[in-house]
Amino acid sequence: METASDLIVERPEGLYCPPGDFYIDPWRPVHRAVITHAHADHARVGHGHYLAAAPAEGVLRARLGDITLQTLAYGEAVEHQGVRVSLHPAGHVLGSAQVRVEHAGRVWVASGDYKVEADATCAPFEPVRCDCFITESTFGLPIYRWEPQQQLFDEINAWWRTNAAAGRPSLLMGYSFGKAQRILSGVDVSIGPIVVHGAVEPLNRAYREAGVPLPSTRLVSEVADKADFKQALVLAPPSVQNSVWARRFADASDAFASGWMRLRGARRRRGVDRGFVLSDHADWPGLMSAITATGAERVIVTHGYEAVMVRWLQDHGWQAGSFHTEYGDEALDETPPAETPAEGADAPPDTAEEDRPR
Ligand SMILES: [Zn+2]
Ligand SMILES: [Zn+2]
Repeated sequence: METASDLIVERPEGLYCPPGDFYIDPWRPVHRAVITHAHADHARVGHGHYLAAAPAEGVLRARLGDITLQTLAYGEAVEHQGVRVSLHPAGHVLGSAQVRVEHAGRVWVASGDYKVEADATCAPFEPVRCDCFITESTFGLPIYRWEPQQQLFDEINAWWRTNAAAGRPSLLMGYSFGKAQRILSGVDVSIGPIVVHGAVEPLNRAYREAGVPLPSTRLVSEVADKADFKQALVLAPPSVQNSVWARRFADASDAFASGWMRLRGARRRRGVDRGFVLSDHADWPGLMSAITATGAERVIVTHGYEAVMVRWLQDHGWQAGSFHTEYGDEALDETPPAETPAEGADAPPDTAEEDRPR
């Protein structure tokens, strides 16, 4: 359904704006890239020129090193080849932005990844009016509905408190960029010390430098008295599971924080004691409210359950299609587990709820 007047199209390198001659979150090296956020599947090395939201600068540089980066405050616009480009909060991780592109009286918005519920670690999602909205769909099935995050933090704190009282470390695994800082912002620091993996601390530093208040954290190597681990919350990326690094917490209670924990059986398949359903992405009602708030007549779905969402949108009066992207395939964003329900018409959304015996 691509037409000559489309402001953003699919190219082998990534999403492309023909009149502006730039890409959004390209997965192959290009001259000009607008980056929605610093997760590894959206922000890659090798581009000539990067444009991103100002609060993303620290995390982008922490991850990509020496890049040619221009930043814009949220809402500030630049004009490039007659195309007006501005960035608007996406509420996903620090510095995450939706890209608004305006040309010849038309407005398109590419969401990147987004979350509708506000949290303490980044600017809250702002709906932007547009003619065409390019939306993510990581959790684009009706079964995905999040509890209010305070409830999740209460559950995490209760688990940590119980373990600390029993003298067991609490090993909580979640992605080091975004998820870890959000957990830090919500935990009760009176329970015990917080110890973090070396992959988490550089991101904590970037958040603190951007003015996001986080409780103080220590690296494992900075804990002189190993008895301190007994009351500790230990935050680490999922890759530490069953690793030598994790062995020092052999008697720990372990847990995993991800939206995928919403799937029945996910915790058992992960082999952890607890699963906390905490996501940086919009749930199904969040996706629908965000799409509706844009006022867009046309919606292009990326990054997840494209087929199911496109069909649902078409059934409800939108002009809808999808772009094939290479997002969501790296371990630093919320990559679906292999057992996630398949896309497409043959997979009714509610099969995800079934915990089939094997
Ligand atoms: Zn992301
Ligand atoms: Zn993503």
